Amino acid sequence: MSPENREKNDEQNLAIEKIQEGIVIDHIKAGSGMALYKHLELDKLDCSVAIIKNARSQRMGKKDIIKINKILDIDWDVIGFIDCNVTVNLIHDGKSEKKNITLPQEVRNVIVCKNPRCITSIEQGIEQVFKLADPVHHIYRCIYCEQKYEPKYQKK
Ligand SMILES: [Zn+2]
Repeated sequence: MSPENREKNDEQNLAIEKIQEGIVIDHIKAGSGMALYKHLELDKLDCSVAIIKNARSQRMGKKDIIKINKILDIDWDVIGFIDCNVTVNLIHDGKSEKKNITLPQEVRNVIVCKNPRCITSIEQGIEQVFKLADPVHHIYRCIYCEQKYEPKYQKK
């Protein structure tokens, strides 16, 4: 059995129906699936959403997968921000089409600045904006106070 088939077989063992229409976010770094779920606010959807944690992956060892049983407008920047190495497939009529995910230049109202002296901590109603400061190390900084964002779920 080829590695790819074995990977597919593993997913079938989890008895997850093949999606005819929807979005599959694959190759999520193991442990980041829940963070992605939360940031994408998938809990607010009324369609079925599956999170598979620690699925076996030939390429990564372990990975998380999210399957959404509906095509919807997702904030792709949020996905890129949390894990730009994921594979996203949009499935329409049983045919899948790959969507490119890149590291966004900035994220708005996704994360909150932790600096107590930052204007966003002092005044209310200010947008939380972080800009990509270092694309190699995926470092984002608050545009107001330059505070670096330290993700909890990314081990460096
Ligand atoms: Zn700040």
